[in-house]
Amino acid sequence: MNTTNSQHRQAITDALQGTHFDLLVVGGGITGAGIALDAATRGMRVALVERRDFASGTSSKSTKLIHGGLRYLKNFEFLLVREVGRERAVVHRLAPHLVVPEKMLLPILENGSLGRWSTSVGLWVYDVLAGVRGADRRKMLSRAATLAQEPLLDRPDLLGAGLYAEYRTDDARLTIEVLKTAIRHGAVCLNHCPVETFLYEQGRVAGATCRNAIDNTTFHVRARQVVNAAGPWVDELREKDHSRTGKHLFLSKGVHVVIAHERLPLRHSVYFDVPDGRMMFAIPRHRCTYLGTTDTPYDGHPDEVAAKPEDVAYILDAANNMFTTAGLTAADVESTWAGLRPLIFEEGKGPGEMSRKDEIFQSPSGLLSIAGGKLTGYRLMAKKVVDVVARRLGIDTPSKTHELPLTPKPFEDVGQVAAFEAKLRQKVERAGLPGWQAAALTESYGADAERVIEEALAAGGGQEGLVKAELHHAVKHELAATTLDFYERRSGRLFFEIQSIEPTLEMVLAEMGRMLHWDRSRTTSERQAVHEALRRARCQ
Ligand code: FAD
Repeated sequence: MNTTNSQHRQAITDALQGTHFDLLVVGGGITGAGIALDAATRGMRVALVERRDFASGTSSKSTKLIHGGLRYLKNFEFLLVREVGRERAVVHRLAPHLVVPEKMLLPILENGSLGRWSTSVGLWVYDVLAGVRGADRRKMLSRAATLAQEPLLDRPDLLGAGLYAEYRTDDARLTIEVLKTAIRHGAVCLNHCPVETFLYEQGRVAGATCRNAIDNTTFHVRARQVVNAAGPWVDELREKDHSRTGKHLFLSKGVHVVIAHERLPLRHSVYFDVPDGRMMFAIPRHRCTYLGTTDTPYDGHPDEVAAKPEDVAYILDAANNMFTTAGLTAADVESTWAGLRPLIFEEGKGPGEMSRKDEIFQSPSGLLSIAGGKLTGYRLMAKKVVDVVARRLGIDTPSKTHELPLTPKPFEDVGQVAAFEAKLRQKVERAGLPGWQAAALTESYGADAERVIEEALAAGGGQEGLVKAELHHAVKHELAATTLDFYERRSGRLFFEIQSIEPTLEMVLAEMGRMLHWDRSRTTSERQAVHEALRRARCQ
């Protein structure tokens, strides 16, 4: 049985029902995925269930940076900066095609919040804490040198900039790759499978009742330990366990907008001042540039979070204020996304001031809940949680995820990635696709990109051929079970190539329907879900 193939859902459900697991993980965001991988590679029998799709919560809605959190230096969170700063290099090494080096410019303006001297010292401390070496160490640039790097920063009050090293990724793809690696090590993982209630034996949590949301059947998963890694829904699950006492979550909403690269043709990522004292990212990515984020308290239901016109206006104002010739308007926005930071509430602090630290809550029933944290620190968080689980189970195998590549055919370094990409480019061009697709496909699928583009060529090339090939890969190798699983999280098209959706939708519906045996009403509801997602992403 191929347990990454959505056509084998029934067999996966059977395996979930028929095994007594050591660990059940609830939630298939980056935190749950990391925990499943860490536990499976220590020899535990692991199950993971995800209510909607893997990475459908916060883990597809972040700024998509693997970063040390320069901002946290302002709050004097040195340990956090040190920990996640060093972790960047580890995650890059595990998947150099997916976690790619990204130089970041920090402009210094006359009367801006950053002085030349404080920026220089701040970035130096950042590099030292994160253990950055050699050519990657921060450089302080003059005005002329800054403009040579990034002409769009040409404004009279520009004094210069700091140039420092970070990494860019795709959060949903990273989550999927971590999960696929966990599955290769024996974990049994299923999406569209919410936990409805917990099961107890003598007052101890001993599994969960789950619902297969695709065929609406209910079944039990039994496990010796249960971890709640439900991100913004952590408290909802703690309530099901009657243990939502003491500390609780505070949800802060963050929005990003996507525009065509030619409307803001940045050569570099820029981390810039916003007039209200906050900071924001502008990040070029293949055919787009994306901008964000906002940071506002959120008290609605986590399922309903969406970008509002006022969020978009705030981001565009901030960008127009920094890039004075940009003249961006709402009509330039191709797509948006909105996510929730699951922060641990701290009395008297605003969303921007609350720590991004993670914390484990242990309930009287034995349920472990993990809250807070960052995408960047997923592996360390996972190790911390699984250390507790291992202690409880009497297992003393240490974590080995620091040396475990996230693909079966890993690249050694960025040089190998670049060589692969150059070769792929020829096939991409032969398929009649733009050259940037070579980098985009390499980042998304690693060495599998070659198989995807060959299938696209065999299917006649062009956009339709590529979408069909990516779709087959997503269903057969990445557990895509709905049209949006494919368009939003496997291929990222909803955010970064939204205009490719309408022309390919009927083909995708027909192809998925054929592979997954959909009836007419299922196809209709899938079509509606895509139209609704398009409206939401376009903020209409
Ligand atoms: P989620 O990804 O939300 O996963 C929880 C999962 O649990 C969800 O998929 C949900 O569907 C599932 N679930 C809920 N209830 C149930 C149930 N009953 N049964 C089964 N499953 C259930 N971090 C960085 O390192 N770099 C960044 O650039 C960055 N930028 C950010 C920008 C924004 C705007 C935001 C909001 C966050 C950002 N972060 C960043 C933080 C990072 O994205 C989060 O820390 C991380 O994604 C949280 O992952 P998670 O797995 O804990 O939560």
